[in-house]
Amino acid sequence: MVKIYGRRCTPAGYAIRDFLHRSDIPFEWMELTSDAEAASLAKVQHLSDPRLPICVFHDGTRLECPTIRQITEKLGWFKSPSRAEYDLAIYGAGPAGLSAAVYGASEGLGTVLVERWTLGGQAGSSSKIENYLGFPDGIGGWELAERARDQAIKFGAEILLARAGTRAEFPPGKGVVYLEDGTRITARTSICATGVAYRNLGLPGEERFFGAGVYYGAGASEATLLHGEDVYVVGGGNSAGQAAMYFTQSARSVYVVVRGRSLKSTLSKYLLDRVLSSPKIEVKTCTEVVALEGDQTLQEITLSDVRTGQRQSAKTHWLFVCIGGRPQTEWAEDVGIVRDEGGYLVTGPDLRDFPCDRRWPLERAPLHLETSMPGVFAAGDVRHASIKRVASAVGEGAMAVALVHRYLNSS
Ligand SMILES: Cc1cc2nc3c(=O)[nH]c(=O)nc-3n(C[C@H](O)[C@H](O)[C@H](O)COP(=O)(O)OP(=O)(O)OC[C@H]3O[C@@H](n4cnc5c(N)ncnc54)[C@H](O)[C@@H]3O)c2cc1C
Repeated sequence: MVKIYGRRCTPAGYAIRDFLHRSDIPFEWMELTSDAEAASLAKVQHLSDPRLPICVFHDGTRLECPTIRQITEKLGWFKSPSRAEYDLAIYGAGPAGLSAAVYGASEGLGTVLVERWTLGGQAGSSSKIENYLGFPDGIGGWELAERARDQAIKFGAEILLARAGTRAEFPPGKGVVYLEDGTRITARTSICATGVAYRNLGLPGEERFFGAGVYYGAGASEATLLHGEDVYVVGGGNSAGQAAMYFTQSARSVYVVVRGRSLKSTLSKYLLDRVLSSPKIEVKTCTEVVALEGDQTLQEITLSDVRTGQRQSAKTHWLFVCIGGRPQTEWAEDVGIVRDEGGYLVTGPDLRDFPCDRRWPLERAPLHLETSMPGVFAAGDVRHASIKRVASAVGEGAMAVALVHRYLNSS
């Protein structure tokens, strides 16, 4: 059990709670409310001491305002690549990347999986995935990810956590990817499974409130902290619906804010029924959040009726933004890999519909999930026209590995 001592609503505290929650590491959040508590419990001078939050591990190790990398090091999870060259390097440990790691390693490929945060991707932030085949009672996203991790490791995949790929080079027959800390990964083939990063609302001051009242995605680590308070969830998709249902366990009321006239066309039927019948949830249709107020933490939001422009303010410390995501594929542009207008990687037959400065260099056509760079594949949500479901991401991860074999056999 890790004990975390910190002030309420700070970005650093949120990052640590989110990481530990999604990594299934038990922790206890000890909220400090006065200088005296800061001194007696956390052994710092006052509530604004920059050493907060403090993490105390079960063996007594104390880390002051640690980075996620320091935490992974403490947990023994921080690893460096063991090989000079891999058969397959996978970037992103969401459902697509984990699936690719299981299939790649189980089929004898020297496989490394690189993840910038922790396992599970978007699915890892879901409290319960109820439509994934084989789990009639649903399964927590983190549990699914953990099972996949065990499976991948059992077959010999290497997993590097808290390491992001930032830049790539593609000398003939190889992919060389540089991680943020300068580590180099070389592999004969690569699968990009980096999914999407949550979109923000684009409001003034929004960045300032991240982790201090504004959260992106389902924010499952925060559910126990919002006891008896009013919570706002922005978005009409399944992730918003799931988040709203989850928060009803502890919130006083949950308001779901959507621009559209109803949730009917955006929410799966099973979730729609639950959201509409929950006495704690109120759906605010034809509404958007247009302003955020507060000093160091979020105190109030302004809602606007999209039809009339009429405004109304609401007091809250909790705003969860679940309005989908955008891929972070700027690295691909640098090396001339074809992306669509939204930044998604274009693969296989779809490449025919996109103008490409670089000529496809081979006589054969690109394989189904192959990008415009031979030997570089894309799977899951990061791919142009993907389905955006756990099952399809898992399927594409497996399929990408089959195509990796085909590529390796032909080259
Ligand atoms: C709250 C929520 C609930 C959902 N519920 C359901 C559901 O019930 N059923 C369903 O079918 N779908 C659901 N979805 C959708 C589903 O989770 C996604 O479609 C699926 O996770 C996509 O998988 P992916 O592996 O392609 O990408 P992601 O899950 O987005 O994973 C991508 C991973 O890549 C990592 N990454 C990004 N950039 C880098 C980099 N440069 N280097 C290394 N790593 C990087 C990210 O940190 C992330 O871990 C839900 C989504 C959310 C947000």
